[in-house]
Amino acid sequence: MAKHYDCDDCPAYCCSYARIIVTDEDIERLGQHHGMSPREARRTFTRKGEDKGERILRHQADENFTTICRFIDPDTRGCTIYEARPEICREFPGEGRCGYYDFLTFERNAQDDPDWVATTG
Ligand code: SF4
Ligand code: SF4
Repeated sequence: MAKHYDCDDCPAYCCSYARIIVTDEDIERLGQHHGMSPREARRTFTRKGEDKGERILRHQADENFTTICRFIDPDTRGCTIYEARPEICREFPGEGRCGYYDFLTFERNAQDDPDWVATTG
């Protein structure tokens, strides 16, 4: 299926989702990437989620979306740990469409501004 979105041309809206769940394997990979033990990586990069035992990525303040994943580079809007990113980040949004990108493209065309950023904050 053709890909109808371009993450390089997007302010990384999906990385602003509050609940980005990570697995033990993800935490281990994050630790290896940063030269930390899984325990240290878990404490440093994740926090408690909604469900029992769930861990989610910590956030940082963001000018576009109020908060965003702590691993986003605020200037480039790229993931600073791309090679070590969690599984859920690798799978999203799949090979087809991204709803936010459709919305962003529509608004950029409507406003005749290719750099316009659709915010939620
Ligand atoms: S998946 Fe969609 S929202 Fe996320 S960075 Fe790519 S285009 Fe943007
Ligand atoms: S780890 Fe990277 S891809 Fe995943 S939410 Fe954070 S910044 Fe986005």
